[in-house]
Amino acid sequence: SLPKRGGMSLTTKIVIGMAAGLITGTILNIIGSAGVNSWLVDGLFAMIGTAFVNGLKMLVVPLVVFSLLCGVLGIGDIRMLGRVGGKSFALYIATTAIAIATAILLGLLIGPGEGFVMEGVDTSGVTAAEAPTVWQVFANIVPSNPVASLANGDMLQIIFYTIVVGIAALMLGEQSTGFAKACEYMNELMMKVVSIVMAFAPYGVFALIARVFAKEGIELFIPVLAYVMTLTGALFLHLFVTLMLILKLMSGLSPMTFIAKIRPAQIFAFSTASSNATIPITYRCTTERMGADNSVASFTVPFGATINMDGTAIMQGVATVFLANVYGVTLGLGGYLTVIAMAVLASIGTAGVPGVGLVMLTMVLTQVGLPIEGIALILGVDRLMDMIRTAVNITGDAVVTLIVAKSEGKLDQAVYDDPYAGLTTD
Ligand code: ASP
Repeated sequence: SLPKRGGMSLTTKIVIGMAAGLITGTILNIIGSAGVNSWLVDGLFAMIGTAFVNGLKMLVVPLVVFSLLCGVLGIGDIRMLGRVGGKSFALYIATTAIAIATAILLGLLIGPGEGFVMEGVDTSGVTAAEAPTVWQVFANIVPSNPVASLANGDMLQIIFYTIVVGIAALMLGEQSTGFAKACEYMNELMMKVVSIVMAFAPYGVFALIARVFAKEGIELFIPVLAYVMTLTGALFLHLFVTLMLILKLMSGLSPMTFIAKIRPAQIFAFSTASSNATIPITYRCTTERMGADNSVASFTVPFGATINMDGTAIMQGVATVFLANVYGVTLGLGGYLTVIAMAVLASIGTAGVPGVGLVMLTMVLTQVGLPIEGIALILGVDRLMDMIRTAVNITGDAVVTLIVAKSEGKLDQAVYDDPYAGLTTD
């Protein structure tokens, strides 16, 4: 397949949309009048952005169900399914734990929040969320009503139920019958619907980014600059060093190629701040662009979007250190180990949607006895931090997908190495 000739590729258009959004938003933030901002930013941009995010979300459930059914029927072997599940689960947990440990170490080294004077911070409206227990997290994977799970987009339950149905179909010998063909057809159809929605992506991304930057003034960042810098540093360290080392060491795949090909998914994660909404793009990047087989990616991508949150875990780590410094509390090794355990557990039990990191943070803080009102300090900058950490979250999902695919002999190296692979379908 040849790359599109003439005209710009969709990815280029999306990057342009993002840059234009950044510039427009910043200008509006500086010189925009209240009237213009309410009409343009909260009216038009909000409408385009929300419609686009809804469009992405509308793809997620049917895409996951049919691609996962195809995956299970394509694997045709329950033991391999178990292996893929076991490996990806272990890797997701391990990478999240590494992420938060890095964040805490970096936080302790840099020491954001030392000497911070707390004043004029509105701490009302911050309440602690109840932390789920390990038992609850695992019990809730089994849906009591699968139709409700589908309607609510509850990813773990949907994955569980779809796999059970897929296994049942295998047991009935449906591997090459009309059922399998119908699933394959539906999967193809859904990928076409993805293409339709993607055609609007440059405008959607523009509107989302412009709105965020029009709203978040630079002055929000100054009081918590140390927090923002430490967090961004830790996120970039994990993204470009830790994850790339893990990819290289465990699969031998080239990090350079990976970074070039994962960019569209990162842009979507950044614009939408939702791993879940980004599932269709992460899936497409790892399969069509990087050659991971559908049988692996159809499982690991939605699974990762739900349970794997490296970026969010990093935010928990840095925020805890920051708030401990602000309140002059020493947490000690035990405290930090609790933070690691809590953040890993919370990332399994919570969905990849915007702002979840803050909810998780209330659980973590309560657990180590820090006042949750402290969250008010970082509330103002959280949207932007959410965008960056979500990009890190989905990068982790893609790295694990490739490692597992490679280890199962389910990665097409020729596709991975081909810079134009998957581009024509844009
Ligand atoms: N927005 C993040 C995600 O979707 C979760 C969070 O950190 O709030 O992955």
